[in-house]
Amino acid sequence: MTAGHSAAPEAAGTHTLSPGVFAWVQPDGSWWINNAGFVIADDHAVLIDTCATETRTRALLAAVDQAAPGTPIRYLVNTHLHGDHTHGNSLLPATTMVIAHEATREGILADTVIDGCPPIWHPVPDWGAVTRRAPDLTIHTALTLHSDSHRIELHHPGHPAHTNGDVIAWLPGTRVLFAGDLLFHRVTPLVFMGSLEGALRSLDWIASYEPQHVVPGHGAVIDAHTLPTVLEQHQAYYRLVLATAQKGLRDGLTPLEAARTCHLGPFTDMPDAERIVLNLHRAYADITGHAFDLPQAFADVITFNSGPLRTGV
Ligand SMILES: [Zn+2]
Repeated sequence: MTAGHSAAPEAAGTHTLSPGVFAWVQPDGSWWINNAGFVIADDHAVLIDTCATETRTRALLAAVDQAAPGTPIRYLVNTHLHGDHTHGNSLLPATTMVIAHEATREGILADTVIDGCPPIWHPVPDWGAVTRRAPDLTIHTALTLHSDSHRIELHHPGHPAHTNGDVIAWLPGTRVLFAGDLLFHRVTPLVFMGSLEGALRSLDWIASYEPQHVVPGHGAVIDAHTLPTVLEQHQAYYRLVLATAQKGLRDGLTPLEAARTCHLGPFTDMPDAERIVLNLHRAYADITGHAFDLPQAFADVITFNSGPLRTGV
């Protein structure tokens, strides 16, 4: 990856959402290139997610230090288990308490991708010097951090959506919502480890907070004016996946065959459009009750894509 590319680590930057509340946005939001965030209190900082690689996480930590020089990060919240949001956990000092949903802790402990990425992506990501670091404190429904003037509420939707352990961070005082991967902004949504119906339900749940600013897990920050459109796009996409799966099952097609019949319409040109194959595998599993076949799903998405999936991580 050369410097100056739209997905280069140097393209990442801090966005001030309100006093002391920041988004860390990494263009272009495609595979493994996530968003994070941080809140600066009087004598400590709260970090929301890390990044996939040592390089990208160190840039995030430098941004926190630039916003509040020398301020220790007391808490790290992981919005879900995926490595693009958690691989950098081990770069935080031992004094940082890592908080996540119980299912996220289980997922991080079970994840082997951090030990060496399989050649599903190209180039094969190099994580750098990171090791598996599971959350110290786990929640099932909700938890509130009282960081001086900042009330930071962590909420689980109550059902699987992007994953089984999604958590949002909601700051009612400034109406900022860190959505994790419940939202992808102009990037193809991914629900293969969650639930299509659950992801659909999570959209109304996010809207119910009436946020002013939403930090999606991938893509540009969303404001209150654009949120309805973004939610409608997610709804349309999830409904397309479900309808394609229902028709595919009726017609006796495999998820890969169904993906090839699917007209993605407005989603055709979004980054990571090949995720339709993974999402259809999830929809098939949800509808039929059969187990989700992860190796087959990844074999199929590589076939569909005519090769490993592109990443600029
Ligand atoms: Zn992500």
